[in-house]
Amino acid sequence: MNIHEYQAKEIFRSHGMPVPPGEIATSPEAAAALAEEYGGRVVVKAQVHAGGRGKAGGVKLAAGPEEAAEAARAILGMQIKGLTVHKVLVTPAAEIASEAYVGIVMDRASQRPVFMVSAEGGIDIEEVARENPEAIHRQPIDPRYGLLNHQASRLAFHLYDDIGVVRQASDVLQRLWHAYEDSGATLAEVNPLVVTPDGDVVAIDAKMNIDDNELFRQPDIAAMRDEEAEASSERRAREAGLSYIKLDGNVGCCVNGAGLAMATMDLVKYYGGEPANFLDIGGSSNPDKVVAALSIIGEDPHVRSILFNIFGGITRCDDVANGIVEATDRLELDLPITIRLTGTNEEEGVAILEEHGFQAMIDMDEAVQRAVGAVS
Ligand code: GDP
Ligand code: MN
Repeated sequence: MNIHEYQAKEIFRSHGMPVPPGEIATSPEAAAALAEEYGGRVVVKAQVHAGGRGKAGGVKLAAGPEEAAEAARAILGMQIKGLTVHKVLVTPAAEIASEAYVGIVMDRASQRPVFMVSAEGGIDIEEVARENPEAIHRQPIDPRYGLLNHQASRLAFHLYDDIGVVRQASDVLQRLWHAYEDSGATLAEVNPLVVTPDGDVVAIDAKMNIDDNELFRQPDIAAMRDEEAEASSERRAREAGLSYIKLDGNVGCCVNGAGLAMATMDLVKYYGGEPANFLDIGGSSNPDKVVAALSIIGEDPHVRSILFNIFGGITRCDDVANGIVEATDRLELDLPITIRLTGTNEEEGVAILEEHGFQAMIDMDEAVQRAVGAVS
């Protein structure tokens, strides 16, 4: 689950990290009132689940209440990476002498959390990783011990020379580790971690992703879910019990089982197509899920062709066939649909589809090739 910057900052604060104060505004007037309260310069920041807000115009410095209202007016309602901004964070502006990147990600390759720090902060870390990978210093963490003192110092020395700053930064890194671990996060990052001209270390940005499987034991964090901020397709998929991840291609995939979904996407690419999504309707036999899945896929304006790939085990082909018939009746989809259906109750499923003018295919390769070829 994604949370907003202001929510990640609350978590960071509760772990004693140096984070500037800040509050949420949903109107220009409220932003002006907060700027008044803080006095002096403030920053008005879009709260959306997307990085690169600065580049997109979603982070603005304001000299006082009037400029803060103006900034909020510009940012509220703005689209950043397809997401609409409904809230801004208003926070006193920090003076910046230097910007660094510090973050922890769950690294599947090394099967443990890895700390990453870079003196090239403020810019996209993916860009640093691509263009200047040696500027990123890594430290895998043994979860039994957490971030050890000497590791924290070494990471901090990688960023700073001044011993006072190094000590503060090591402390921030330790606290960041605890915030990450206690929250069940898969990512916790500060970009930029700044040093002020007075030599204070401050976290002026915050980003956290929480492992969905942790939410049942993290009720305070689970309550941070902001449905308004989620892409509507992702919210609807979650509500319908589907695993759905939107991608950039144009072949919509509706598959039962995560492994088969991955194999289907591989095959779509193999035959020269680009999958529009990962979608696993799961193992149950529920026609409603098929209806929800098809409507979510059909709403993606990039989708030019839809591919069903169903291997009936617990899922019954006739249920899926009924779901497809029902969904295509209810939704006005003007897209070619290719259906591959095999396994439990295959004959019944094929019969239902043929009765309604669909052709069902048995071979996965052929079906994928046809779906890729149907993109116009
Ligand atoms: P992001 O673009 O979504 O990562 O948003 P950030 O919070 O990282 O802000 C982007 C950039 O705006 C930062 O790298 C800073 O250069 C600038 N910025 C953000 N907050 C402040 C602040 O308090 N003071 C100053 N001077 N600049 C800021
Ligand atoms: Mn940032």
